[in-house]
Amino acid sequence: MDLAFTPEEIAFRDEVRAFIRDNLPTDIRDRMRLGHSPRKEDTVRWQRILNKKGWAAHSWPKEYGGPGWSAIQRMIFLQENQVAPAPETLSFNTTMIGPVLIQFGTEAQKSRFLTRAANLDDWWCQGFSEPGAGSDLAALKTSAKREGDHYIVNGQKIWTSTAHNADWCFVLVRTNPGAAKRQEGISFLLVDMQTPGITVRPIISIDGAHHLNEVFFDNVKVPVHMRVYEENRGWDVAKYLLGNERTGIARLGKSKERVKAAKEMAREVRFNGKPLIEDGTFRQRVAQLEIDMKALEITQYRVVSAYAKQRDGRPDPLSSVLKVKGTELLQATTELAVDVGGPMAMPVWAQELASLNEPDDLLEAASAATGSYLFLRAASIYGGTNEIQKNILTKAVLRL
Ligand SMILES: Cc1cc2nc3c(=O)[nH]c(=O)nc-3n(C[C@H](O)[C@H](O)[C@H](O)COP(=O)(O)OP(=O)(O)OC[C@H]3O[C@@H](n4cnc5c(N)ncnc54)[C@H](O)[C@@H]3O)c2cc1C
Repeated sequence: MDLAFTPEEIAFRDEVRAFIRDNLPTDIRDRMRLGHSPRKEDTVRWQRILNKKGWAAHSWPKEYGGPGWSAIQRMIFLQENQVAPAPETLSFNTTMIGPVLIQFGTEAQKSRFLTRAANLDDWWCQGFSEPGAGSDLAALKTSAKREGDHYIVNGQKIWTSTAHNADWCFVLVRTNPGAAKRQEGISFLLVDMQTPGITVRPIISIDGAHHLNEVFFDNVKVPVHMRVYEENRGWDVAKYLLGNERTGIARLGKSKERVKAAKEMAREVRFNGKPLIEDGTFRQRVAQLEIDMKALEITQYRVVSAYAKQRDGRPDPLSSVLKVKGTELLQATTELAVDVGGPMAMPVWAQELASLNEPDDLLEAASAATGSYLFLRAASIYGGTNEIQKNILTKAVLRL
């Protein structure tokens, strides 16, 4: 089993690292190093820089404007980008709708949307989940009735991340309520968010920020040529999309970057009369996280190289291990940052201290840590909950 990068992979990693170092705008890097989420304009600006280099659509083949990388190269790129820290490319565009259109879209859909998705000229969102259909996605009820050249869409989606920023939404709808199997009555539509009848209502999450929305469809007219793949075969498209979503979800680079940031904070924070970084218990906790990250890195390398070789690019059920372990680590690393910040990580304290003192990076980083700690509780829910991933592992890997 090959657990070390080849010389070519190391050369590739160094090339990616150097490009990000030389091209990531300093203001974006500084904001992210202090633990802030990228703003919409940061994501757009960085994705366009990457796209100019041919790297934004990192999982697409060359003929469609991607770099044509192997799975290992993609893994290296994603990790370097997260460690930088740089904004991640908009996954709805680069790992969801792009690959879906390449696989299932008509020529007209490909030429209309792919180049714009890579360059983030269109911001996409994902309209799958509904109040009664999350883990059990096939229970979805949003209906699309055919009337001539259009579908008339009615229903509600929920947890639609960044719908308030979005130009387009890919939506799962029920086109045949009488199908023998629920999965056989679903279609996949591309919906212009400006279409009359769409209402986007914000959901403010526990970190106090607006990431999420409810989206209501009230007699929304969607042209039939905006359906991807055959009518009532949308489930095949959704399964393909969800498989791609899961493989990139470990976000190991993000965990590494968060531990690095916590260590930097611990050099400034004093505990028992000396810097926290010198405290034995703290060092043990960091060491355990670093061991777990190394183990996950090796597992990720094994899973990615195995499916690249043996599965012709199809997701491996073992990628569920990456999702479960990766999100657990992400949650543990953000918890570490909050603990290091101590009282400064409490938003009320941070506000009060900030009003009394000069701007201070430590205070800003500590209070931002709480926001990501709180939001990332959701990491074990989105992209298929960790309980569902464990069910997949039980059946497909352990064969129980
Ligand atoms: C931050 C965030 C962003 C999201 N973004 C989007 C988005 O952009 N677009 C979109 O369409 N959706 C999005 N989602 C929705 C997400 O996909 C769903 O929340 C997820 O699939 C779980 O569905 P649910 O919330 O309905 O929970 P449920 O499915 O009702 O699950 C509730 C609990 O029961 C457990 N459970 C359910 N079924 C089983 C089972 N068979 N075995 C064991 N345990 C089970 C679950 O693990 C969970 O703990 C987002 C969610 C979050 C939190």
